[in-house]
Amino acid sequence: MDLFGLGWSKYFEAMWNSKEWGSAVPARVISQQKKFWAIAGEFGECWAEAAGKLRLAAAEGGDWPTVGDWVAVHVENPGSTAVIQEVLPRRSQFVRKSAGKAAQEQVLAANIDTALLVSALDGDFNPRRVERYLAQCWESHAKPVIVLNKADACANTAQLAAEMENVAGGAAVLVLSAKRGLGFEELEKYLVRGETLVLLGSSGVGKSTIVNCLMRRVIQGVQEVRASDSRGRHTTTARELFELPSGALLIDTPGLRELQLWGAEEGVSRTFGDVQSLAMQCRFTDCRHEAEPGCAVREAVQGGNLDLARLENWRKLSREQAFLRRKVDPGARLEQKEHWKKIHRAARQKYEQREKDGGKR
Ligand code: GDP
Ligand code: ZN
Repeated sequence: MDLFGLGWSKYFEAMWNSKEWGSAVPARVISQQKKFWAIAGEFGECWAEAAGKLRLAAAEGGDWPTVGDWVAVHVENPGSTAVIQEVLPRRSQFVRKSAGKAAQEQVLAANIDTALLVSALDGDFNPRRVERYLAQCWESHAKPVIVLNKADACANTAQLAAEMENVAGGAAVLVLSAKRGLGFEELEKYLVRGETLVLLGSSGVGKSTIVNCLMRRVIQGVQEVRASDSRGRHTTTARELFELPSGALLIDTPGLRELQLWGAEEGVSRTFGDVQSLAMQCRFTDCRHEAEPGCAVREAVQGGNLDLARLENWRKLSREQAFLRRKVDPGARLEQKEHWKKIHRAARQKYEQREKDGGKR
């Protein structure tokens, strides 16, 4: 397959040309199984493992290759396992807090151009959840498109679509019925040849149904990557990067569909740009928008210009970010400690002052 058909672009070409690669060639990671990666390039498809240098870098906190990555690879002959030398700088990446208590990041997919944020127009409809996905999406540097599915099961589609547009921050809002096959012309505008997409959204909103409509056939279990690993074993895994009939590429990896926020502070700011700019107009720079006088945020809520639920979601997502940051970044934890020290000192001084005043009286 030619590289542009796999998502190669001017950007990666520039990255590639900035370095001397010897006999290595570019390839894209199409699925991953533990420490083996299925890759595709002009040579075809094969399995690859990581070069020692890459393993060492990963052990020191660097990134392992992930689905969607472009890598520099040595391919000896199509029958044997190739060796990945390096991961090219990513244009975008979806990262999540890895499962379990430890706050660790895990890159789920890389080099995604467009993320379809799917929700359903039935009981699932929830602008707050979309705000969360939007934050993650802006953070990852993928372009979000909001997809509202199950239009056939909804009596007030136009009203809900308008409500979603209010929180979309400029992202397109599309209405679909995957079941009836309606609304796909609009969606197809975003399925550009050589561009990479993902579908995100809670379970049950219709992602598989949409994917099946896009593929126009059932893909599960159809396309498998088969090759021998370095020990000569045959390994089979489901492909996680597919080509759609339009020539667009779709990444569908386990765990990617439902994300947990990770390091999305910038994304939260962008998603809640309206709240942030209101907050800049508050009288006090450290206004917490609770009971302070001159609070532009509370005023907007009282005047009906800002949805209280949206404000609360902004608080919640910001808190989550601060919590993760403290857990992960010792510098931030220290900063937080200093902050509390200051507050305690101020409270103590206030207390002592009151004692003194009382003493005088
Ligand atoms: P996923 O978990 O997001 O992949 O969701 P599925 O694609 O498995 O769909 C969940 C359920 O919703 C299935 O019973 C589908 O038949 C149904 N569904 C999907 N799209 C639509 C739609 O446009 N309208 C209606 N009424 N049901 C749909
Ligand atoms: Zn305020």
